[in-house]
Amino acid sequence: MATTEVLVMEDTIKKDTTRLTTDWQAVRKQFPVLQQKVHGQPLVYLDNGASSQMPQSTIDRINRYHSAEHSNVHRGIHTLSQRGTDYYEETRKKVKKFINARHLEEVIYTTGTTDSINLVAQSYGRKYFREGDEIILSEMEHHANIVPWQMIAEQTGAVLRVIPMTDNGELKMDDFHHLLSDRTKMVAVVHVSNALGTINPVEEIIEAAHARDIPVLLDGAQAVPHSVVDMQKLDVDFYAFSAHKMCGPTGFGILYGKKELLQEMPPYRGGGDMIDKVTFEKTTWNDLPHKFEAGTPPIAVGIGLGTSLDYLNEIGMEQIEAREHELLDYATQELSKIEDVRIIGSSAKKASVISFLIGDIHPTDAGTILDQKGIAVRTGHHCAQPVMQHYNIPGTVRASLSFYNNEEDIDRLVEGIKYVKEFFG
Ligand code: PLP
Repeated sequence: MATTEVLVMEDTIKKDTTRLTTDWQAVRKQFPVLQQKVHGQPLVYLDNGASSQMPQSTIDRINRYHSAEHSNVHRGIHTLSQRGTDYYEETRKKVKKFINARHLEEVIYTTGTTDSINLVAQSYGRKYFREGDEIILSEMEHHANIVPWQMIAEQTGAVLRVIPMTDNGELKMDDFHHLLSDRTKMVAVVHVSNALGTINPVEEIIEAAHARDIPVLLDGAQAVPHSVVDMQKLDVDFYAFSAHKMCGPTGFGILYGKKELLQEMPPYRGGGDMIDKVTFEKTTWNDLPHKFEAGTPPIAVGIGLGTSLDYLNEIGMEQIEAREHELLDYATQELSKIEDVRIIGSSAKKASVISFLIGDIHPTDAGTILDQKGIAVRTGHHCAQPVMQHYNIPGTVRASLSFYNNEEDIDRLVEGIKYVKEFFG
């Protein structure tokens, strides 16, 4: 008993020490974009939810590919092609490890979260959805996890059912449980809301859906960059995310899917690479994961994501999560002190997103003035119009934090907000 206690304590101390010894200032210096001035002021980049920045190592890796390694993958016998294929496929192994997938074939390369969700909606939905079937979404979905389901619903006669949320920005879980029925054929929910920062109780959602043999897709675009996600622990059926929100390049993303489900699903797009044998009479499909990867892929950015994962692993996702929570707490505390600032989304479990309004100043006007002060925030509906409809507002100002932000960035935001208030009288 005593030994266990000591071990637990030592473990805690070890973790804390690592966190405290991380040189966040040095980390920030590894991001060249952050070292510039905008409108004469040092850039404060608080739009990480839309796209995060790349470290120098990823930029260098992509440059190296273009300057010394470029060639097409998978089909070439020559050295460059084989080498490129190895590097490109190495990323798959890194992703598998990063999300703790059981099999390599469960990691499907896509162009991003949107593409991943469209793949599941079209491939799984076309095969399994019938008239009157129900797809459960939530009120806080990004459009990327609404529109693809609407499209397949129109094609198949299925209908959408929506889990409502509270004014705090939390899912009404009793309603969710009531929505589940024999007609439910898919539950597709955001893991972390990009508009509110809410971390949803996905474990409960998965358990309840699985009790009725219903598959679950999670939109993990805002979860993977900020926390440890573990596919085997979650036991989720499909999980979608984008490279460019996790210090990687744009144009690349991942669909995780359970092997037994992916094996039964038809291809999403047709063309080179995804085939086994082609005749004019009949074509047979390649094995997983290539069955879902038609045509020449975005090779450079795929390799680049591998380097970004190395970078994130080097810092450690636990530390990233802890640092971002520290920053979120500080930002929430400081913004709450400003009169007339209304924070939208105050869920008990939140990731590093802080959405707010300043009095009755339109978010776009506020964002424009903040930009003049060198502060990059996002304004508008954040591709989550139903969220804005819930609060009956046109949009919000959103500061989304990353581990390379610091307290000074938040102080600059606070000063900026005060200036916006002054500017609009
Ligand atoms: N889902 C969520 C929660 C998001 O925040 C985003 C992007 O902002 C997406 C989906 C779409 O990601 P992408 O545009 O990379 O496909």
